[in-house]
Amino acid sequence: MPLTRETPLTDLPGVGPARGKKLEKLGLHTLGDTLDHLPQRYEDRRECHAVADAPEDRPCCVAAMVAAPPRVSFVRRGLTLVKVRAVDDTGTLNITFFNQDYIREVMCTGQTYVFYGTVERQGQTAAMTNPVFEREGSARSTGLIMPVYPLTAGISNNLLAGLTRRAVDECLDGLPEVLPAQVRKDHQLCQTQFARKNIHYPPSFEELAMARRRLVFEELFILTCGLAQLKDRRSAGEGRPLEGAVEEFAALLPFAPTNAQRRAMEDIAADLRSGKAMNRLVQGDVGSGKTAVAAFGAWAAVKNGVQCALMAPTELLAEQHARTMDALLTPAGVRVALLTASVKGKEKKALLAALAAGEIDLIVGTHALFSQGVEYRDLGLVIADEQHRFGVAQRAALAEKGGAVPPHVLVMSATPIPRTLALIIYGDLDVSIMDELPPGRTPVSTFAIGEDKRQRMYGFVRKQVGEGRQVYIVCPSVEENGGGWEDGPAMDLKAVTAYAKELQERVFPDLRVGFVHGKLKSREKEDVMAAFTAGELDVLVSTTVIEVGVDVPNASLMVVENAERFGLSQLHQLRGRVGRGKHQSWCVLVTSSRSETARERLRALCATNDGFQIAEEDLRLRGPGDFFGKRQHGLPQLKVADFAADMELLKEAREAAEALIAADPELKKSSHRLLKRKVRELFEENAELFN
Ligand code: ADP
Ligand code: MG
Repeated sequence: MPLTRETPLTDLPGVGPARGKKLEKLGLHTLGDTLDHLPQRYEDRRECHAVADAPEDRPCCVAAMVAAPPRVSFVRRGLTLVKVRAVDDTGTLNITFFNQDYIREVMCTGQTYVFYGTVERQGQTAAMTNPVFEREGSARSTGLIMPVYPLTAGISNNLLAGLTRRAVDECLDGLPEVLPAQVRKDHQLCQTQFARKNIHYPPSFEELAMARRRLVFEELFILTCGLAQLKDRRSAGEGRPLEGAVEEFAALLPFAPTNAQRRAMEDIAADLRSGKAMNRLVQGDVGSGKTAVAAFGAWAAVKNGVQCALMAPTELLAEQHARTMDALLTPAGVRVALLTASVKGKEKKALLAALAAGEIDLIVGTHALFSQGVEYRDLGLVIADEQHRFGVAQRAALAEKGGAVPPHVLVMSATPIPRTLALIIYGDLDVSIMDELPPGRTPVSTFAIGEDKRQRMYGFVRKQVGEGRQVYIVCPSVEENGGGWEDGPAMDLKAVTAYAKELQERVFPDLRVGFVHGKLKSREKEDVMAAFTAGELDVLVSTTVIEVGVDVPNASLMVVENAERFGLSQLHQLRGRVGRGKHQSWCVLVTSSRSETARERLRALCATNDGFQIAEEDLRLRGPGDFFGKRQHGLPQLKVADFAADMELLKEAREAAEALIAADPELKKSSHRLLKRKVRELFEENAELFN
């Protein structure tokens, strides 16, 4: 039977059911799948050295003849050594294998092998430990640029390399091309067969670069085609015309809106009235007053007789928004309710019934708002606050909660995103930028301090409280959950509780200290936050549950413990919790880290209050993988491309994708059939993020 891309891996020699299972863990079922299992790095094993002139500073190949039968010694239980003496014209290579008794059976005296490993020299003799080896002339794992694959327990790199080798040798013919010929030509991209072959087994690094460039382009092209389609469909999408005058709404506000707020509201008003579905992002740094802008949208929707859903990333924030909206909009006749995961039983049933009957106009909540069983009578507007946590797929899924006419969508983000990333993440949205803070704010002064200044810092806390201000003290999650959907892990509980207790008992016995963390019941969290908001607590010890959106204008000092453990953007968010009122505010970053990068990062934060600049710096220092976890940006994890390194190519791919989608919006042409399927697969994979 000839091998094809559809051949199950378990049909291949050396792959039994057990290994088959393990390969499945890597997502590999058929031989064709292995073509997409890309190396994470390469080892240059091309050059073969004589024993005498093999370098010592890096692994290399040495060809030598086995001079005598391998000698086995049992050192102790669980430790066996096999010693092999190999020679060439220039010298002797002594090789030691640990716990690999089988070597004795397979290695033949008089045979020349190529050994790949690191040479160590003592005087005249050269030695190697646990090298990779094969008979001279095999050129399977030596004499080439060797791919090193991501592995799982029980699957060796050699096994995988063997499989990809067969796939490359026997299954590349007729591999369908996903990139349109013209795109390939315009952007000088190699063919798909060439790319697959050379990404696994490149004869040189030049070929590897060509292969990689094409695969990166392909990946970004598929992604941006999908985004372009989304945008296209949305902008063609019918939307319910809703009328709302900014001036009329402004009269409800306790302050005069800033010009930036006014512009954002006018943008929204124009979208709502247009008869097309709104898909707008309002991006503004922390404290720029996005809540009021969201309230305008909600007010306009309700005034026109449709419902509005306002979604926040955490319960804490949802609760705060519910309070704000209630205060602002109830006087205008808007009926506001709160739905989070902690609303249960009878209460929940009544709430859902009221929502379905249209007795609630504005529902505020977490992603629970779009879970199963939540029915709206007439959902006209969806607002997502802190949008970097609600990606493309989530937005698509929530839009489906609308009726025949899709709801308008408004997303708010306080996380400035490097422009390059924004291109992708917000690729399908119109954007309003709020680049102005409400008047009377003084910028937050930021300092990084070491443990030696801790007592002074406590003194400063006391001084602020003495002046009537309030203070946050934030501790890191002991174990980053990288999410944002759930609050902190159980470990937080101990750290925060213990620390708060210590502060209360030993440091600030005369102050009112409260604490909040992710594992508190939502009721308890709400009570603590309400007490802090009302000024009944002086110091709030917290995990990052307060990171986004929390608004207590009287708080003037933010202390961050173990600041080196946070990302810069996260620290910027935390800092944004103070400086929200008329008082001079401070942010103190406490760190005992000696690491130069950690210090460099904190210095960057002390030097500027510009969120965009910080985001760029964060991306540069941490790389995109850390900048946004998959769950946060809601975009597919990229297999080949790197958001930071491949920006130029992203631009090219995006332009090509937009041109293609403009010409063939639904990818109906037969030459676009495979592309269409790939786009769908990519976004389907992503849809699971919403569940
Ligand atoms: P963010 O953009 O971070 O969500 P908020 O909407 O929470 O900011 O607003 C921050 C603070 O500024 C709130 O206390 C809010 O009441 C206040 N605020 C918003 N807009 C104005 C304004 N135009 N004038 C004065 N204060 C404002
Ligand atoms: Mg906000």
